Amino acid sequence: MEIDNHYADRDFDRADTRRRDAEWLAARLAEPATRIHPVWRGRCMVEASDASLPATVPSTRVTDETAEHLIFLGIEDDVARFALPLEDLAPLGMAEEAFQDVRDLAPELSRRDGAVLAYARGLAHWHRTHRFCGICGAPSRAERAGHMRRCTNADCGRMHFPRTDPAVITLVHDGPRCLLARRSTWGFNRRSTIAGFVEIGEMLEDAVRREIMEEVGVEVTDVSYHSSQPWPFPCSLMLGFTARATTTEITVDGEEIVAAAWYTREEIAEQTASGELTLPPFDSISHRLVTDWIEKGVD
Ligand SMILES: [Zn+2]
Repeated sequence: MEIDNHYADRDFDRADTRRRDAEWLAARLAEPATRIHPVWRGRCMVEASDASLPATVPSTRVTDETAEHLIFLGIEDDVARFALPLEDLAPLGMAEEAFQDVRDLAPELSRRDGAVLAYARGLAHWHRTHRFCGICGAPSRAERAGHMRRCTNADCGRMHFPRTDPAVITLVHDGPRCLLARRSTWGFNRRSTIAGFVEIGEMLEDAVRREIMEEVGVEVTDVSYHSSQPWPFPCSLMLGFTARATTTEITVDGEEIVAAAWYTREEIAEQTASGELTLPPFDSISHRLVTDWIEKGVD
């Protein structure tokens, strides 16, 4: 079974072979139907009259100065879509208040638009944080329609590619119960699965075991891949797993995780209904991991 998680859309055509085709890209930009989505400091815009519709700027408003920052995202129904990362809104006459985080817009947006704007946001973030070459420190410049940067120092010339940081996220269960934990930064009732970044030199399965041991002190076996989710907030790829606990005593680390407990399916149903328990937001893979586990039934 193929799983569709939010912020991904396998049917959106990234048309990656066109990224080096300057003539084709210029022709797309000249078309009035082309959609150019402004991105400002990780935030995107929707139409003031309709929060489900991503806002666009006409290509006539793309100046030479901003054109070099344009990112080609892909094409749908013969209409090209671009992102336009902006640092300064004044020249385009836009207000900061008009820009919102994609995650806040997600309940209104279509799945396609949520995926495209998240993709735009992620690439804009990468450009914003990789303006200089990590080898020699000279400025770098975008190429391939925003999918690569090259160092401008002729003696270096290093190519830099967009980064995504892998993180594992795991539904830990012992058969009839699953483990849900609260991060120190969350509201009192919110609980979720266990997540953490994969370290260099580490297998995903080992990262799963390490994070669970670190955060809640539980040993696990049967680490199984579930699905993945792009999470460009700002630059992660979530890799979802399930794992079976071989120990059940919980010891929270007290820093990242401040509370954790085992929940049966019935307890989750009762406590979410009463407001005692808040599950992860609908757009997260964590939500998917928990709801899939509930629906699967006791194994
Ligand atoms: Zn360099």
